[in-house]
Amino acid sequence: MDSANSTQKRPPEQNERFDDLTGIYNRYGVFSAVEQLLKDYPDQQFCLIYWNIRKFRITNDLFGWNAGDKILVRWAKNIDELLHDKLAVYGRLELDNFVCCVPESFIENNEWTKLGEISYTTDEAKYNLYSCCGLYKITDRTLPVADMMNKARAAMETIKDNYMCLYAWYDDKMWNALLEEQRMNSEFKNAIAEKQFKVYYQPICRASDGLVISAEALVRWVHPVKGLIPPDSFIPLFEKNGFISILDRYVWNEVCATQQARLDQGLETVPISINVSRVEFYNPNLCDDLRNIVKSHRISPELLKIEITESAYADNPIQVLETVKKLHSYGFSVLMDDFGSGYSSLNMLKDLPIDVLKIDMRFLDNFGKNQKAVIVLESIIRLAKWMKLNIVSEGVETQSEWDYLRSVECDSVQGYYFYKPMPQESFIELLDKVAEHSVDLMFRSLPELDDTILEVFHQSNTKESILFYSMLNGMGLLEQCGDNVELLRVNRGYYEAVYNSAKSENQILNVPFEDPERSLLLEQCRTARETNQVQRFQLHHKREDGTYVWLAVKLRYLGGSPQRALYIFSVDNIESQKNAGQAQ
Ligand code: C2E
Ligand code: CA
Ligand code: CA
Repeated sequence: MDSANSTQKRPPEQNERFDDLTGIYNRYGVFSAVEQLLKDYPDQQFCLIYWNIRKFRITNDLFGWNAGDKILVRWAKNIDELLHDKLAVYGRLELDNFVCCVPESFIENNEWTKLGEISYTTDEAKYNLYSCCGLYKITDRTLPVADMMNKARAAMETIKDNYMCLYAWYDDKMWNALLEEQRMNSEFKNAIAEKQFKVYYQPICRASDGLVISAEALVRWVHPVKGLIPPDSFIPLFEKNGFISILDRYVWNEVCATQQARLDQGLETVPISINVSRVEFYNPNLCDDLRNIVKSHRISPELLKIEITESAYADNPIQVLETVKKLHSYGFSVLMDDFGSGYSSLNMLKDLPIDVLKIDMRFLDNFGKNQKAVIVLESIIRLAKWMKLNIVSEGVETQSEWDYLRSVECDSVQGYYFYKPMPQESFIELLDKVAEHSVDLMFRSLPELDDTILEVFHQSNTKESILFYSMLNGMGLLEQCGDNVELLRVNRGYYEAVYNSAKSENQILNVPFEDPERSLLLEQCRTARETNQVQRFQLHHKREDGTYVWLAVKLRYLGGSPQRALYIFSVDNIESQKNAGQAQ
């Protein structure tokens, strides 16, 4: 091997053992160099250090890959300068993972931590990056070098998210945890296929009287050998390797299927919130996936609420903001989970248009003893009230906590005092019971929306549909979703009334109306819904080409809820009457 006393930068003829980017050993090079070092110095005690840059991905996003590369080169240079004249071996394994093998004595004073110092200088400023590492004292030299590295890595993994810790020493528990992780990873696909993941439901209650008004879906792994595994044991792992995206979609589908089954049987249900992992915010399809899942189960987006964590916002604020806006436009409510658990600032509330704040359960830890936490909790609730946000307090375990939360006008409560998370069957039984007492709080399918009407609008080849499209009167179906109004379907008569021509029929338009038409339509929709009477009004409609036409509209409410509802309407062209009126 190379003498440990000379630089380990690339000699030109040996480049297959050296990293193209940084010039120090690559994975292959460092493995064989460590092996050799241990052989050459059998009486020397060595340590392996496994380094990683915290949030390197974000650095790359922020400054670009070029800058990322420069940082890695700079770091390798730093390590090389500090170690090239020592009895040591070092290299880059891949990405931002570096490894050093040094004598144990090297770790005895704090000098060694300089190995982890990384900075990046731009024209404007100097940025310090934070690294962390795991240390493994090589006690068993018979182990393959790969296992030694994995042990050091296992130690590093335990502190990766803990900014207060620069390093951790390996112990055997970490190794077992790593093996367990590998086992879970290898079992995942089969577990999904065999439906070993079960959705549990924890009811959320109205704070004033404890009535069930909603629920949260929480996943469990019912393992054939190990039994019930809680989500904290596998979600962080599946967030690391990307399986979370499969698992979350599985959960969302199960929840929607539960909702659909209730509605199809004509039974009541409540909105159910689902958890969206923070890593999902790197997935551009998130919102559309949610919308498609809801659509495929023919349920209203009001029945599926979206919980995002404040750590997701801390990671990726711009993306989270965009996502929340889009989810709103699709009709979903968004809940901010674990609020106050760490990263958040109250400032965030000003920027992020969420609907509900879920206050972290740690505020209720030591309730009655920790006066400070209670004061903070109270001021958060007061502030949220000012911002017209709904508040759910999590982790309510006692009557006195509930009493207190009611007294400060918290809206909803969730916790073991009311219900623990329960399997689907028990939740369904509970819904049946709740429905007997408080039907008005619950959602049900739309009996007014008779099947024929739906067929007319969704299947173009039925008798009814042909009749509808060829009817002389201009007619259509309008959807109001939050503050948006969209045309879903119109018939041939509609085109004749609006464009004086028979355009292609059976078309879905999906064009949202703009103000002032939007406001007028929203108002008429509201009255039609509240009074259940046909509304008659005139509309100065802006066509696609920017020209205007006067229409007389009749609008009738078909069904839905204040957030999302369907209306049927007819239109007559009254352009000539209007012109005649103006001419007089
Ligand atoms: P979370 O979203 O904050 O969920 C609330 C957790 O608090 C649940 O733990 C629930 O069982 C527990 N809890 C509820 N009431 C009380 C109480 O009164 N006292 C105490 N001590 N705990 C209470 P669980 O089910 O173990 O879930 C843990 C975390 O795992 C969840 O925290 C959530 O972050 C994550 N998670 C669960 N299911 C899913 C899922 O389907 N997808 C994703 N991405 N994450 C999930
Ligand atoms: Ca949650
Ligand atoms: Ca929570």
